[in-house]
Amino acid sequence: MRYSAFSVLKNALSGHKGWKPVWREPEPKAEYDVIIVGGGGHGLSTAYYLAKEFGLTNVAVIEKGYLGSGNIGRNTTIIRSNYMLPGNERFYELSMKLWEGLEQDFNYNAMVSQRGVINLYHSDGQRDAYARRGNAMRLEGVDAELLDRKALEKLCPYLDFDNGRFPIQGGLLQKRGGTARHDAVAWGYARGADMRGVDIIQNCEVTGFVIEAGVVKGVETSKGTIRAKKVGVAAAGNTTRVMDKAGLRLPIESHVLQAFVTEGLKPIINTVITFGVGHFYISQSDKGGLVFGGDLDGYNSYAQRGNLAMVEHVCEAGMAMVPMIGRARVLRSWGGIMDMSMDGSPIIDKTPVDGLYLNCGWCYGGFKATPASGMCFAHLIARDAPHPVATELRLDRFETGRVIDETGRGAQPNLH
Ligand SMILES: Cc1cc2nc3c(=O)[nH]c(=O)nc-3n(C[C@H](O)[C@H](O)[C@H](O)COP(=O)(O)OP(=O)(O)OC[C@H]3O[C@@H](n4cnc5c(N)ncnc54)[C@H](O)[C@@H]3O)c2cc1C
Repeated sequence: MRYSAFSVLKNALSGHKGWKPVWREPEPKAEYDVIIVGGGGHGLSTAYYLAKEFGLTNVAVIEKGYLGSGNIGRNTTIIRSNYMLPGNERFYELSMKLWEGLEQDFNYNAMVSQRGVINLYHSDGQRDAYARRGNAMRLEGVDAELLDRKALEKLCPYLDFDNGRFPIQGGLLQKRGGTARHDAVAWGYARGADMRGVDIIQNCEVTGFVIEAGVVKGVETSKGTIRAKKVGVAAAGNTTRVMDKAGLRLPIESHVLQAFVTEGLKPIINTVITFGVGHFYISQSDKGGLVFGGDLDGYNSYAQRGNLAMVEHVCEAGMAMVPMIGRARVLRSWGGIMDMSMDGSPIIDKTPVDGLYLNCGWCYGGFKATPASGMCFAHLIARDAPHPVATELRLDRFETGRVIDETGRGAQPNLH
């Protein structure tokens, strides 16, 4: 069924009895043209674009838990395309453009809110670095504005501008950046894919691959063997565990990242805003809760929970930037598993196994990439060639040295 103002009205007047389940719960078929491993944002958007853009509908998404149980339902919902290096910028800008039309495209309310993203700077050196980033963005046709203290004071009067240790000088603003409701994005893509014939199979773990003479022929799952001509893996934090079953070691480490939400407050924070002297980012949800996060917990893990030391660290950074949030009570916190790559940039590529494709390395930033990642992965799987904006997101860049190291930190996945 299509959603519209009319369908809302009609169902309101008929006791809300006319709503249908948003996707089916099919049993797996014996064989598909394409199997996507992982029903997170990237797996679901890939299936959606495979069906919608490339006419491939004999597709299954195999998810070991329920839709939204991974990072797609655990992130702090920030979307932006304020990257500096061409290998990233073009890709993330495609994502931004897709976000801008997404709700109309898949006919689902994902609460995309272009409220602006501001990165604060606290020193002359940092201002120059942001000016450079902003200029690089503008050269790629992406919006960027460098704000001085006066302009920022007008926009965000709640900041601690004269903080004794970290006074704020200004910020880099991307007005088109903002937030989207993360789990609605998964549901919208799932619904759009299901409507076009894709089977979404939940509670089914991929436990191995069927590989014959170097060619993938399907997957082993907790519901039996399912054959496929092509298999795409989009398992985010579990990528290394899944690809291990195909005999592949990857330049990826899994780390925990936590997120926090406070009790509902009156509207105060009207953009997404990030601290420039520590890792801290915050926005306010439409329900009023402050949604924020910080750094990785700092050790390798596949557990979806973090530790208390990082809670303290993140809250300290928040207090240095916006002291008033010390009065708010944190209601909820949780962790997700990040697939940290060695240069902080993603991988969308083929693997040495014929017919087996890989989508991973999303680090902290894969939510905003969800639309472009799906589009580019679908392109790669359907056409066996990379999408024009994803030509540099190759697996072999760690061999050739053509890394896309946005922060210049080197092969330190925990620092990207
Ligand atoms: C706390 C936190 C805050 C974040 N904040 C932001 C942000 O503000 N902006 C941003 O852009 N990004 C953010 N991210 C990152 C972003 O959420 C991820 O990069 C992105 O969601 C990863 O892609 P995904 O949605 O496909 O992952 P997931 O939702 O994790 O999907 C992978 C799926 O694969 C499934 N799977 C794993 N193994 C198997 C198997 N063997 N068989 C079948 N299925 C399997 C998992 O169950 C999971 O559902 C954040 C992440 C976290 C944890």
